[in-house]
Amino acid sequence: MSPSLIHIDIDTPLESFSLRVNVELPAQQIVTLFGHSGSGKTTLLRCLSGLTRPKRAFIRVDDEIWQDDRQGHFTPPWMRSIGVVFQEASLFAHLSVMENLQFGFKRSPNPSATQLQHVIEAFDIGELLHRSPQTLSGGQKQRVALARAMTTNPKLLLLDEPLAALDPVAKENLLPLIKSTCKDFRTSLIYVTHSPHEVAYLSQTLMVLNNGVINACAPLLEALSNSQNPWILGDDVASILECEVTQKDPQFGLLLLSFTAGALWVKDSGLALNERTRVRLLAKDVSLSLSQPKDSSIQNTLPTQIALILDDPKERSQALVQLKVGESLIWSRITQRAVKQLNLQVGQSAWAQVKSVALMD
Ligand code: ADP
Ligand code: MG
Repeated sequence: MSPSLIHIDIDTPLESFSLRVNVELPAQQIVTLFGHSGSGKTTLLRCLSGLTRPKRAFIRVDDEIWQDDRQGHFTPPWMRSIGVVFQEASLFAHLSVMENLQFGFKRSPNPSATQLQHVIEAFDIGELLHRSPQTLSGGQKQRVALARAMTTNPKLLLLDEPLAALDPVAKENLLPLIKSTCKDFRTSLIYVTHSPHEVAYLSQTLMVLNNGVINACAPLLEALSNSQNPWILGDDVASILECEVTQKDPQFGLLLLSFTAGALWVKDSGLALNERTRVRLLAKDVSLSLSQPKDSSIQNTLPTQIALILDDPKERSQALVQLKVGESLIWSRITQRAVKQLNLQVGQSAWAQVKSVALMD
């Protein structure tokens, strides 16, 4: 059986441009939808949920067609297997947390008490059930809103900047929960954000929207290493590596994270041996040396080969160098003068010195 897909083909006019999207997304994955304010992200989610009816669309999720204008077909929002959470939690203030959950649950085509119990446990909200939403913190409200969205066991979960209004601690608590929701409930998730950190942490697939048009739609690592547009997430060009903890250094509180062709020492965040995680390297934190640095304070050096040298269109003095480390690609941002002085050429071997590594666990 071929893997299930979400097919979105929408063409609808907005105030100053048209939303024109035609993509096929893998199902049961986290797709992050990234884009500047006003690029059409919320409108796209509203079209998927049926809250806004696009002028012309074909929308299919698994084997269900939600809109097909050629057939004059439009499934109303309440008949779509969908969960939606927006930036501001939209709990009913006059209902308790439990009643809020039951409200969502009753809409389910096959309400099951086991599902409700599973949701309460997965979101760890047993203690909050009798509380009124007004007495909850912002983070707790969003936790309940997420739980309510999952009570119907939707095929598709749409989250529109659900953490944007929260403090950093609440964000850190909810992010792992959002990540595990997709797996636990075998749901597909489209997650709108303009945080590169959230993109790096959550995405399996990254979709970038710009003035109503998709600029990129690809598996995250592929999207970030695309030499046509390293600036896909903004000026802070970055690379992601998928790693595994292979060693611990308790004396200095460090972890060794290995990937196919190298390893990086990072601060021990409590990950266990063999655990997998991602790291994010900012291009500006990766510098180059033609010989192996031996007396540098920088702990992480990787043998690489220069794959590409690009001018930075936004800053004349800067260049972006793409480096091949085994099968992986990383970006380094250095000055044009360094490129000239070192006479850097594509194909040449070079040592990448990584000044800083952000762990995405
Ligand atoms: P984002 O969520 O990426 O910030 P929005 O989807 O909210 O962007 O808005 C994209 C653009 O579409 C904005 O210019 C907005 O004014 C316009 N817009 C939003 N809703 C509608 C609508 N129902 N009809 C026409 N234009 C709209
Ligand atoms: Mg929006």
